[in-house]
Amino acid sequence: MAVERLEVVILGAGIAGCALAYHLARRSVGPTVLYDPRTPAAGATGRAAGVVTEQLWNEWDVAVTRAARAEYAELVARHEPSAFTVNGFVRWTADPSAARVLSDATERLRGWGVEVRRVERSELEGWVPWGRFNDVAGAIFTPSDAVVTPSTLAEIYTDEARAAGVEVEIGSPFHGLKRSDGAWALEAGSRTFRAHQVVVAAGAWSKRLLASVGHPLPLAPYRTQAATLRPAGAGPEVFPSVHDIDLDVYVRPEGNGRILAGDGTELVEVDPDRTPSGGDERFLGHLAETFASRFPGWADAELVRAWSGVCTSTPDRRPLVGPVPGAEGLVALVGFNGFGVMRAGGVAQRLATVLAAGEGSGRELQLIAPVLPGRFPPGTPAVAPRPGFTLEGGDAPRF
Ligand SMILES: Cc1cc2nc3c(=O)[nH]c(=O)nc-3n(C[C@H](O)[C@H](O)[C@H](O)COP(=O)(O)OP(=O)(O)OC[C@H]3O[C@@H](n4cnc5c(N)ncnc54)[C@H](O)[C@@H]3O)c2cc1C
Repeated sequence: MAVERLEVVILGAGIAGCALAYHLARRSVGPTVLYDPRTPAAGATGRAAGVVTEQLWNEWDVAVTRAARAEYAELVARHEPSAFTVNGFVRWTADPSAARVLSDATERLRGWGVEVRRVERSELEGWVPWGRFNDVAGAIFTPSDAVVTPSTLAEIYTDEARAAGVEVEIGSPFHGLKRSDGAWALEAGSRTFRAHQVVVAAGAWSKRLLASVGHPLPLAPYRTQAATLRPAGAGPEVFPSVHDIDLDVYVRPEGNGRILAGDGTELVEVDPDRTPSGGDERFLGHLAETFASRFPGWADAELVRAWSGVCTSTPDRRPLVGPVPGAEGLVALVGFNGFGVMRAGGVAQRLATVLAAGEGSGRELQLIAPVLPGRFPPGTPAVAPRPGFTLEGGDAPRF
């Protein structure tokens, strides 16, 4: 069996692994192999809604997501302009106490340079004429937010990485990963790749992969669902992505007269290999109830397709990115808590800078300080999945 010697092997060709391959190539780090036993975007990336928003948790998160958004805009402008649309993002609540939290969030977001404002019911009615908003107690709007086609971005990153010299090994069966003789050895198909560094970017499969090499991280895979629908009546083709905080349902325009709707985190851990890929009755029932009460103009929408995907949560709902403590050459790029599309490009830029700096990367590590895996001591257990679409702030209620 041929053994190939490399600098980096990236496990997983979701948007995170693909973006990292692209950024390593741009920094002349290599040779690099990007490996996936399936195809690019076969995991959560190919099932994501593609909402990109700056309504986020902290300044670091905003900076990362803004960098990703700028990169996506630039990449699709060269390759596939229809894969990126700026449409804004609006979320609301009918609960007066949650409305106060939303109002505080507005101030906090402004402090981080986010363009955000409160909106009145009349504006909601203008943007989303299918909706009923008479009970809304508070709503905020971020006009620069966008929707993207995540699988297209993963493909663009892969193509660009390949053109810059990254080898893309797709579709060969995974036989194992182990540490031997001072290097990481990946066995895939009939090949063995030995590398100084291995980056685990395998989405929901990362938990098992990291545990198999004796370095578990506190990750919990969970299921989330979405559907495309075709509303009966005509309406604006482009409208802001909307999120009803109380019902935890979001809807974005999908083009060709369709909409894409989804709901949030399912609070039980699942095995990504045993999770049905279709939408289920509970989800479709929840959507139907939400449409009847909140979007009566969409109540008769025809279901085009429903599906589910598996995301990965962490105890503090932030990703785990960077060197895994106590494991030489093992790097994590995992735990996106349902927001990996909007962050991947920005996180990959930073991680690539850290890896390019090599041994003396102390200063560069600051770029990813809030998400380093070492913030959880070894042995920290995974906790049950928790909702990701939240606004935090001191003791603010979760929503
Ligand atoms: C319904 C739904 C809606 C979503 N909406 C949004 C949204 O609006 N905005 C947003 O930002 N995020 C959204 N997400 C979340 C987003 O999809 C994920 O956070 C993101 O795609 C994670 O990317 P990833 O590259 O880390 O993982 P994935 O895309 O899951 O990729 C992991 C890859 O690893 C591969 N793999 C598995 N085992 C191995 C192995 N042994 N070796 C190598 N590779 C392996 C898999 O085949 C897969 O291709 C949504 C997710 C779902 C399911």
